[in-house]
Amino acid sequence: MAWLLGLVVAGGGLYAVNSLTEQSAAVTLAEFFANHVATPARDLLHGIILTKQFAFFFTLTALLAVVLPATRKERFFSKSLLQDFIWFVYQHMFLWIMVGTYVTWMKAGFDNHFSHLAIDTLQTWPLWAKLVFGLLLVDLLDWAQHMLMHKVPVLWKFHKVHHSQREINFFTNYRTHVIDDLTFNFVSVLPFVFLSFEIPQIWVILVIQKWHPLLIHANIRTNLGPLKYVLVTPQSHRVHHSLQPEHHDKNYGCVFAIWDQMFGTQVRDYDVYPETGINEYFPLEQDYKWWQMPFLPILQNLYPFKEIGQQIVGKRPPEPEAQR
Ligand SMILES: [Zn+2]
Ligand SMILES: [Zn+2]
Repeated sequence: MAWLLGLVVAGGGLYAVNSLTEQSAAVTLAEFFANHVATPARDLLHGIILTKQFAFFFTLTALLAVVLPATRKERFFSKSLLQDFIWFVYQHMFLWIMVGTYVTWMKAGFDNHFSHLAIDTLQTWPLWAKLVFGLLLVDLLDWAQHMLMHKVPVLWKFHKVHHSQREINFFTNYRTHVIDDLTFNFVSVLPFVFLSFEIPQIWVILVIQKWHPLLIHANIRTNLGPLKYVLVTPQSHRVHHSLQPEHHDKNYGCVFAIWDQMFGTQVRDYDVYPETGINEYFPLEQDYKWWQMPFLPILQNLYPFKEIGQQIVGKRPPEPEAQR
C-alpha cells in the first residue's frame, strides 16, 4: 500500500512541477519523459558517470577502501552502495527538475522585489578575493544550516534519512531527503542573490565541490594529516555519522573544518572510526529484497512525513529534542 501511495504522490508531484514549469496544462507524457527523464538521464550518463573524473575518483575510492578501510566490516560493493547509487540517480533527476526551477524562481523573485537590497561592491573585487570570500561564506551558511538540521526536531526528521546509512559509502552524499535539498539550496543561494556575485568557476574549485562530498563519505581510514585542522576529512565526517552519543551533533562542516574548530563542535579525537547510523527505526535496504530497492527511496522520503503525521494525531510521543 505504501508503495502505491508513494508512486501516486511522486507521479502527482512530478506532474504538478511539470505543469508549473511548462506553464501549460497540455503537456503530453512523451514531452514530460523527454524533458524530465531522458534529458537528465543522458546528462547523468555522459556528463558524470562516463567521465574520466568519475572513473578516477571511483577507482581511487574503491582501491583505498580495500587497502585502507575505516572498517573491515564493510565491503566496497555492498547493498548499501547500490542503494545509495539509486539515490544518486534519483537525486540527479530531482535536482534537475526541482532545484533548477526553484533556484530560478528564487532569483527571479529577488530581482523583482528585493534587488534594491543587493550589495554590488563585490563585483569590483579581484578574482582571488571573490573566490576566498565566496567559498567561506557559502561554507559558513552550509555549516549553520547543517547545525539547524540537527538541532530543530522537525528538520532532523528529514535529515536523519542521510544519517540512516549504516555503511556510509561513495554515494551516501546523495542519500538526502528532498526537504534537505530544498533548505540547503535555499540557504546556499542567498549570498548570490544578496551580494549579486558568483564564485569564480575555476577548475580546481569545481573538482573539489563535485568530489570532496563523495570522498568524505567513503570507507577510508585517513584524517589527511595536518589538513584535518582545516578540511572535513573521511575520518571527521564518519564521526559526524557516528552511532556513539558523544559524537552526536558534532563536525557539521561541509568543506572546511574551521567553523567547527571556531564554534567548539569539532571532535578533536582524530583517530576514531566509529560505526555509523541512527539509534532508531528507519526503513533500511537490509530489510528489503533486491527488487524493492529502486522503490525504497520513495518510501524513505515518505517516512518522515509518516512520523510527523503520527505525532500530530498523537500516536507517537513527541520527542523533546533531536535524537538518534
Ligand atoms: Zn548531519
Ligand atoms: Zn554525510
